[in-house]
Amino acid sequence: MYLDANSLPDGTTLSNFDVCIAGGGVAGLVIASELIGSNARVLVLSNGQATDAGPAPDPARQSIYNGTIGPFMTKVRPEFLAVSRLNMYGGTSNHFWFNAYPLDQADLEPRPGYRDASWPIGIDELNSYYPRANRYGDYGPFNYRDIAFWSAALHGQPFAQMDGDHFSNAVFRGQKKTNISQFQTQLGGALQAAGNVTVLFNAHVLQVAANDSRSHVTSVSCASIQDGKPGIHFTVDSCRAYVLAQGGIETVRMLRLSGGLGDNAQGHLGSGFMLHPVIRTTATVDMSPPVDPTVRAFYRGSEVVIGDDGQLVTGRVLDPLELGANHDFVAWGMLGPTAEAMAENRIGSFHVLLSFDDTGEQITLAYNWESVPNPASTIALDQSQVDPVFGQPVVNVDWNVLETEKRTLRVGLELMEGFFKARGGSNFQVLTKTDGGPEDWTFSPDFSDPAGLRPGDHHMGALRMSAAAEDGIVDRDCRVHTVDNLFVAGSGVFPTSGSANPTLTIVALAVRLADHLKTVIQ
Ligand SMILES: Cc1cc2nc3c(=O)[nH]c(=O)nc-3n(C[C@H](O)[C@H](O)[C@H](O)COP(=O)(O)OP(=O)(O)OC[C@H]3O[C@@H](n4cnc5c(N)ncnc54)[C@H](O)[C@@H]3O)c2cc1C
Repeated sequence: MYLDANSLPDGTTLSNFDVCIAGGGVAGLVIASELIGSNARVLVLSNGQATDAGPAPDPARQSIYNGTIGPFMTKVRPEFLAVSRLNMYGGTSNHFWFNAYPLDQADLEPRPGYRDASWPIGIDELNSYYPRANRYGDYGPFNYRDIAFWSAALHGQPFAQMDGDHFSNAVFRGQKKTNISQFQTQLGGALQAAGNVTVLFNAHVLQVAANDSRSHVTSVSCASIQDGKPGIHFTVDSCRAYVLAQGGIETVRMLRLSGGLGDNAQGHLGSGFMLHPVIRTTATVDMSPPVDPTVRAFYRGSEVVIGDDGQLVTGRVLDPLELGANHDFVAWGMLGPTAEAMAENRIGSFHVLLSFDDTGEQITLAYNWESVPNPASTIALDQSQVDPVFGQPVVNVDWNVLETEKRTLRVGLELMEGFFKARGGSNFQVLTKTDGGPEDWTFSPDFSDPAGLRPGDHHMGALRMSAAAEDGIVDRDCRVHTVDNLFVAGSGVFPTSGSANPTLTIVALAVRLADHLKTVIQ
């Protein structure tokens, strides 16, 4: 059911729920949806409104996301905190196309010489949840690496493999239909109808309270939002499980506002924050003979239609008026380094988007790549400023790039040059700055120069998952190591980032956490 916190009497204590989910964004709504019909009585605390839809949040609510950034981010994207997330029902999914690709095995394992970090769960574990996650994009079969399928769907062929290649092909998907990509639009009807789920709107979580030993959450304190100001105060207590699903930055802020709850002796809370670096135009290459139209078609991508039986119906460039049809999404091929190439060259993962001129004589390369959990990239509180609605200290995000990450760009481009030269490429022009140290880039904070470094909008790693409590914040089940009934959902738990958009993995982990919570509540 849907309920408005402003309809509660001031000072209410809600004690009749098993699972309390703080945050009605992608992760929170997926968990709640997966728990529909289960034994659990579920409460979702959404600081948004039932009517929220589209990338225009209420300004007062969005102002709670204000904060301060470190010197490097100031040079790269000064308005990062204002534009990189949405404080509303459905969260940041109101902003996106749900571009999706899963993590690969090499993304989860340590890569000596590049990074030591790794996941405490294996790719088989994630692969057993990705097919269910895929359904949240209405993406048909989970077959991102089935190049034969995608060649048929995209009416094209990738570049033919050659001896000595360091690249393989990946097919990404994107969901343009807002009735699917906006998670509250997709899932809201079922949540509203569910007998065991309550979505409480205008419900802003202020703090998580724990027992004296800080090993058990006793309650969360909340306030409603009324006309952009604090309304009534209420508390949620006696839950068997509390899930923080407020996004990769705000969940850290919440734990910090709660006295650093969940931090370990090593101070991992808020440390190792990762963003995918992105450069829209890294290089161009001239091709002779021109690239065949069928090869261009594979990388240019198209609309794909999957039938109810999971089989491909067609891949074609659709008339925009047809976009309402079921099971349509976009897909396109990208090049990425093989696991062997990454290991040999001690570089991160990356994905290269190819765009072609009309004749196929020139290719432009867009590049986005893997970030490393850098202890100098942090999320903290800035005690010198408070948010304008609740007066709590704002967040400070200090993002920095390491030499290994810059090397991934430089070496990756050298490998790309070799790949295209072997296929008739010449005049490989690198358009962005690749020399100098990790603080030295082509800067274009207003994005007017497409060769400028951009921070991706993927907030990962500051609450990382680890096998041992001393190495991270949450365990394999996404439970905070030091707190027996507190869980985290979202990309904050990623120990490594890969180079794919994170939300498919966020959804897979949310589905997995919901399954786990069912066993906890039984
Ligand atoms: C422009 C843009 C494009 C993107 N494109 C893609 C893409 O194509 N593919 C992809 O994988 N990812 C993309 N992303 C990233 C994607 O949006 C996030 O990975 C995803 O939304 C994270 O889900 P989440 O549930 O963790 O956080 P969110 O979706 O941000 O949800 C957090 C929720 O918590 C709520 N909340 C916060 N604080 C409180 C509080 N104190 N009390 C109560 N509620 C609270 C918020 O209102 C929000 O509803 C994009 C992001 C942006 C900005």
